[in-house]
Amino acid sequence: MNEALVIGAGIVGVSTALALQERGWTVTVIDRKEPGCETSFGNAGILQREAVAPYAMPLGPGFLLGVLLGRRNDVRARWRELAWQAGALVRYGFHSTPARHALLSAAYESLIRTSLAAHRDFIDASGAGSLVRRTGYREYFRNPRVFEAAARRSKEMAARHGLNLAVMDAAALQAAEPAITEPGAGAIHWLDPWSVSNPGRLTTAYAAALVARGGHIVGAEVTAIRATATGWTAKTAGRDWSAPHLVLAAGPWTPRLLAGLQIRVPMVYKRGYHRHYTAPVPLNVPMLDTDHGYVATPVEQGLRITTGAHLARLHLPPDYAQLASAETAARGILDIGRADEIQPWTGTRPCLPDMIPLIGESTRLPRLWVNFGHGHQGLTLGPASGRHLAALMSSEPPATAPEPFLPARYGF
Ligand SMILES: Cc1cc2nc3c(=O)[nH]c(=O)nc-3n(C[C@H](O)[C@H](O)[C@H](O)COP(=O)(O)OP(=O)(O)OC[C@H]3O[C@@H](n4cnc5c(N)ncnc54)[C@H](O)[C@@H]3O)c2cc1C
Repeated sequence: MNEALVIGAGIVGVSTALALQERGWTVTVIDRKEPGCETSFGNAGILQREAVAPYAMPLGPGFLLGVLLGRRNDVRARWRELAWQAGALVRYGFHSTPARHALLSAAYESLIRTSLAAHRDFIDASGAGSLVRRTGYREYFRNPRVFEAAARRSKEMAARHGLNLAVMDAAALQAAEPAITEPGAGAIHWLDPWSVSNPGRLTTAYAAALVARGGHIVGAEVTAIRATATGWTAKTAGRDWSAPHLVLAAGPWTPRLLAGLQIRVPMVYKRGYHRHYTAPVPLNVPMLDTDHGYVATPVEQGLRITTGAHLARLHLPPDYAQLASAETAARGILDIGRADEIQPWTGTRPCLPDMIPLIGESTRLPRLWVNFGHGHQGLTLGPASGRHLAALMSSEPPATAPEPFLPARYGF
C-alpha cells in the first residue's frame, strides 16, 4: 500500500492528505499546531473562482515610490524589508511583465478552474456545507471613471473565461447591502465565487473527514527531514516519523524545511492582518475596497477586515498601521461597529516570485513532493492542488497539465 507523510495541516496539507486518501493512500499529517490554525485560519474566506490570473506586482513608476512613502494601503513595506526580499522581488517584477504574466496566468487559470468542484466534493465528504455561501463577492469603487473602466475590463475577462458578473450602480449596491453607508460609484459583483463563514473551521472539517476515514494527524514540530534507504524521515521532539513518500505543505515555512536539504527557494512574504468588528447591520457578501486593498467579509466572529500585503519576514513583530488605515477607510463606507478583539491576527501569504504554486516531485530527491506557494488564493486552491499532487503521486494524469507547477523550475 502507498504511504505518505504530509508536513503541514493548513488547507493545502489537509487537502493533499484527503486527496491521497481518495486514491487509497495511507497518510499521516504532522503539524505543530491544530489543523487550519495559521494562514488558512485568518484569510478573507473567499473561494475565488474569478481569480483567473495571479496577483501581479504593479510595475508603474509611482508604485514603488507610493509603497516607500507609505502612501499606499494595499501594499506596505519598509526599506530594510525591501532590501532583504530584493532578490525575490526583482524576480516577481520580471514575472509580472505582461508577456510573462499572460503565460503564467494560463497555468493558474487551469488550476483555479477546477477549484470549486474539488471543494464541493470535500465539503460534501466533511459535512461542511453550512459554512459555505454561494453568493459571489464584490469589488467596490468610489471613482465613477475608474469603475467604468474596471467594469469594461471585467466584462471582457468574464466573456473570455466563462465567468459571470453583475455591474451594480450605487442604488443597486445600497439596496443589496443596507450595511453600506456610502455606496460610492458602485460595485462589480462576481457571481461565481463562494465564501466561507469560518475559513479555519473549513480546514478543521476537512481534517476531521480525513481522520474519520483512517488518516492520522500528529501534533509535533518537524525539526529536520532526511532521506533514508526506504524513503523519508521527519524528525520531531518525541520521535522520528518515516514513510516511503514525503509531502512538504508547510505554507510560508516550506522554504525553511527545504533549506535543511540545501534547497533554496525564494519567497515573497506578504503578510496580512485581520480584526473582527461588531457590525450592527451585517454585510451579506464579502467586498474588496479597491481603493484601499482590504476585504470586508462577514464571518461567524462578526465582520472581518483583512488587509492587503505587508512585505515582512515571518519573525518580525506585527505593525498594525495597515490595519488601522483599512479600518479608517472601512468606517467611511460601512457601519463596522466596534472592534471585537484587542489583539488583531496576523499571518503570511506564501507567494513565489512567479506567482504559481509549486506542485510535484523533486527532480533531485525522489519521493520528496511539494505543494506550497499558493499566495493570495491558497484557500481557493487547496483541494484542487491537493488532487493535482495526489494524481501525480499515484502516477495518474492530473486534471491540468503538470509542467508549469513542477519544482524543476526552481532547480530541485
Ligand atoms: C489576509 C489574508 C487574506 C487571504 N484571503 C484569501 C481568500 O479570500 N481566498 C483565498 O483563496 N486565499 C486567501 N488567502 C491566502 C490563503 O490563506 C493561503 O494561501 C493559504 O491559507 C495557505 O495555506 P497553506 O496550507 O499553504 O499554509 P498554512 O495554512 O499556513 O499551513 C501551513 C501549516 O504548516 C505548519 N508548519 C509549518 N512548519 C512546520 C513544522 N516545521 N512542523 C510542523 N508543522 C509546520 C503550520 O503550523 C501550518 O499549520 C489570504 C491570506 C491572507 C494572509
